[in-house]
Amino acid sequence: MTSTPAILLIIAGLDPSGGAGLAADIETAVALGVHPAPVASLITVQDTVNVSASEPLAPELVVDQAEAVLADLPIAAIKLGALGTAAIGSAVADLLARHPDIAVVTDPVLAAAGGGRLAESELIAVYRERLFPLSRLATPNREELALLAPEDGAAELLALGLPACLVTDGEGRGDRIVHELHTDEVHLVANGPRLEGSFHGSGCTLASAIAARIALGDDLEEAIHRAGAFVQKAVAQAYQPGQGQKVPKRW
Ligand code: PLP
Repeated sequence: MTSTPAILLIIAGLDPSGGAGLAADIETAVALGVHPAPVASLITVQDTVNVSASEPLAPELVVDQAEAVLADLPIAAIKLGALGTAAIGSAVADLLARHPDIAVVTDPVLAAAGGGRLAESELIAVYRERLFPLSRLATPNREELALLAPEDGAAELLALGLPACLVTDGEGRGDRIVHELHTDEVHLVANGPRLEGSFHGSGCTLASAIAARIALGDDLEEAIHRAGAFVQKAVAQAYQPGQGQKVPKRW
């Protein structure tokens, strides 16, 4: 029998265009040799242009999916994508508190690239007060960071108990993509040239690649560097399946 790969538990939303959310996370995990255990938090109606509706599942249903998997499979890391509501965020925080030894990478998804909202504003306080202190890393982009920490950016989140914050630059403007890793120091993580176009699911891909590499045993900085290279390659090979954004080719 083939030996069992490392397993990544993913709690995220379903994007039926296949570009972002659970589909992006599953493809990324598989491409990196990790078995994905995907738990749905919300269902969206969307295409490659934007989100037209987002429907959260009942918080108990989200947690029951995850607990079933946690009771059966040896989960090496957890990735959180879109959670949608404060009630789901709080239920997931309770879940993480029951499994404190598993490293958690939290992508605090608030909106789709087209502007469609994917979270109610009450979820912001739950990220700050409950989910970040239980995470190993959070991966906000600059727009998300401005909403999550309007006073003092990443330093504000570290002061709340988040151990590491990667401010991602996928949607920035410079010629090169340079993420910022904030711990007790600030490291710039250069990722390569910025490629022309808008890419659906690149933030999800980066966060799930980091989580998958952590599941494989990398330390945080190694995981971020390898995940950055993975995203750069996936974006360089992106294709345009519909009328809107391109999708990174992760496989
Ligand atoms: N999660 C879901 C379910 C989504 O629909 C989206 C964007 O549409 C995202 C996450 C965030 O995607 P991105 O990686 O492009 O920021």
